[in-house]
Amino acid sequence: MSHPEPIAETLAPYAAHEDRSRGRRYPEPRPEFRGEYQRDRDRIIHSNAFRRLVYKTQVFVNHEGDLYRTRVTHSIEVAQIARSVARALRLDETLTEAICLAHDLGHTPFGHAGQDALNECMREHGGFEHNLQSLRVVDELEERYADFPGLNLTFECREGILKHCSARVARELGDVGERFLNHRQPSLEAQIANLADEMAYNNHDVDDGIRAGLVDLEQLREMRLFRRQYEQVTTRHPGLGGRRLIHEIIRGMINHIVVDLIRCSHARIERAAPASIEEVRAQPHPLVSLGDDTLEEHRELMRFLREHVYRHYKVLRMTTKARRVVRELFDAFMNETRLMPPEHQALAGRGEADRGIAGRARAVADYIAGMTDRYAILEHRRLFDPAERT
Ligand code: MG
Repeated sequence: MSHPEPIAETLAPYAAHEDRSRGRRYPEPRPEFRGEYQRDRDRIIHSNAFRRLVYKTQVFVNHEGDLYRTRVTHSIEVAQIARSVARALRLDETLTEAICLAHDLGHTPFGHAGQDALNECMREHGGFEHNLQSLRVVDELEERYADFPGLNLTFECREGILKHCSARVARELGDVGERFLNHRQPSLEAQIANLADEMAYNNHDVDDGIRAGLVDLEQLREMRLFRRQYEQVTTRHPGLGGRRLIHEIIRGMINHIVVDLIRCSHARIERAAPASIEEVRAQPHPLVSLGDDTLEEHRELMRFLREHVYRHYKVLRMTTKARRVVRELFDAFMNETRLMPPEHQALAGRGEADRGIAGRARAVADYIAGMTDRYAILEHRRLFDPAERT
């Protein structure tokens, strides 16, 4: 496949053409020198939530070392993988990038441990789900514009951010929730962003896991995705070791899986031959997909990481501490909302007036979810350590 420039003129008919966008919640004049999806991406990059991703954990807590992925480097790696795939399939690269950069904006401090803890705290009050929170950040929580709350992104970008949700939540969300009730698909750009997320963390967590000493090459060679590249690299470069060996292997793994994704998705799109994004949405299944064999190898590596990295005792010790911090912050603020800074107190008061205790809980969850790892640790110390300044 060739990559002619400019890409806009060569977009496939089934791409998310911005002149056929379903628009923004609050109508705005068209941007003068940018496209609509460029404007979405730029708004995301300028948001507070995006800057906070620098200090939010992927797997390892932020202060454990400067080389580990954080949410921001993860998001950039996701975008980088997804853009290559989008361009090769003649889809809108900028929309794909915007979705990827926004996909983790709602993430709590301390990665999945933080999200699980907050979800547990919110069980009686509608639950907490980081994916839904990302949409909440761009729709409601960012405060940057005089005329509307949030970032007022296009429907296509919001559709891509919301990867999954329950029927109950889907009904509350209106337009962007409809596909979960009608069993329809999101745009191909959104489908790519979704898969690129898994592909990015599978590969960078191998890298981080080796660096942290949680897994070694011997164990990883049991994984087909890894072993294939290991054999190719060591054949090409006998005697190569250390970081160069690892990086050659990981680069090979990313390339292998990206090429498979492009080839397989291209074939599926050709077979289904959707004439428009609406026909993509009406498909019974996503058209962006890995081939069966590669998908199985990809899942094998995911299971391996879950077992050997995410559940490693050193990681579990950290995540147990993180869960406790989130739980104790939540309980303290729920019991006494005046312990929060004034703007969050006010939001809790308004939420409670509107929706009772669930409204108060949502304001507390929003405050905690917005925290970076180090801010959450500091807030916890300020509340619970008598020697710490408040
Ligand atoms: Mg992610």
